[in-house]
Amino acid sequence: MIIPIFLTGLGCSKEQPCVFCNQEFATSKTAVSTDEEIKNRILSTLTEYLVEPQSLEYPIDIAFYGSTFTSLQFAYQKELLKYTQETFETLTQKSYKTHLKIRISTRPDQVRREELLDLKIRFNLEIVELGVQSMSDNVLLISRRGHTRKDVKRAVKDLREIGIQVSCHQMIGLPGSSIDNEVETAKDIIKLKPKYVRIHPTLVLRETVLEEMYRSGEYKPHPLIEAVDITEKVLRIYREAGIKVTRIGLHPSELLMDNIVAGPWHPAFRELVEGKYLLNEASKQLKDKKGTHINIRISPQDETYIRGEKNSNYKWLIDTFELSSLDIIKDTSLERGFLSVEKTKKPALQSTQEELRA
Ligand code: SF4
Repeated sequence: MIIPIFLTGLGCSKEQPCVFCNQEFATSKTAVSTDEEIKNRILSTLTEYLVEPQSLEYPIDIAFYGSTFTSLQFAYQKELLKYTQETFETLTQKSYKTHLKIRISTRPDQVRREELLDLKIRFNLEIVELGVQSMSDNVLLISRRGHTRKDVKRAVKDLREIGIQVSCHQMIGLPGSSIDNEVETAKDIIKLKPKYVRIHPTLVLRETVLEEMYRSGEYKPHPLIEAVDITEKVLRIYREAGIKVTRIGLHPSELLMDNIVAGPWHPAFRELVEGKYLLNEASKQLKDKKGTHINIRISPQDETYIRGEKNSNYKWLIDTFELSSLDIIKDTSLERGFLSVEKTKKPALQSTQEELRA
């Protein structure tokens, strides 16, 4: 289980935030800045999640999101993690040593090897969520990220060398970016061998520089269908390289939805991308199956993706490949994102009916 603690905006530049960022809307949490606000956020989140500590599965991951954790004074980083450990132990009556892991989010230029090694040893820091966003220096500059491609390479190398797992975040459709940039970013990230990746489409949020760029015509977001297509391409590159994509799209919340000015928003963005991915996978194998009955075996978690909204993908497969019929079979031996297509004589249901008639 992951407990997300949103230290919204902490450690980020107030004067020059990233052009697309409004963490209050993205995380649905108000910004914190004073020591009291920060510790209250930690305490209230842990109290909420650890209400029945005996029924939880351990170890638990506590994740500090929505901030640039490592740009805080190092002594203060340690103070916060110590406070987190103590609160965890008080609420669960369990030792942090064997029951608690920490993950933090930060930017590549704020990765300091020796300090992070210290956090790993003292506080079980296991994963760093790294905001890479793009591997194009031009896109990073326009997006005011404050780091370069070189910083990303150095940061991931350092983290891997000290045994901390890395999860790289990539954004699709940043200002100045192109499909080629997105594809190259994915390929560059793969070379760095992170453990996980997250992919987010760029949305224009209220009260951001990107909103001004959008209103002045300087920035044009991707339409939803285009964003889904590009994200599917990028997902395919990661999947083929064996890198797990743990999240696609932002978590839907009322505050986020109320503050989206423009961009490829959909509450089930991942579903659209995974559906597209699976349709492409199935299509490759259905080309010569006209007039036959087909079974598509799929991981149970992918069933809704292959069926699509109101069974639209399912119907599309039957019509496009002129299948006589199609069964979607849940197969627990298959991993998410993988499917197998098999031609059979009769649909399972039909053969059962015929057996009953006989
Ligand atoms: S570093 Fe992350 S949290 Fe901070 S302003 Fe940029 S995108 Fe937002």
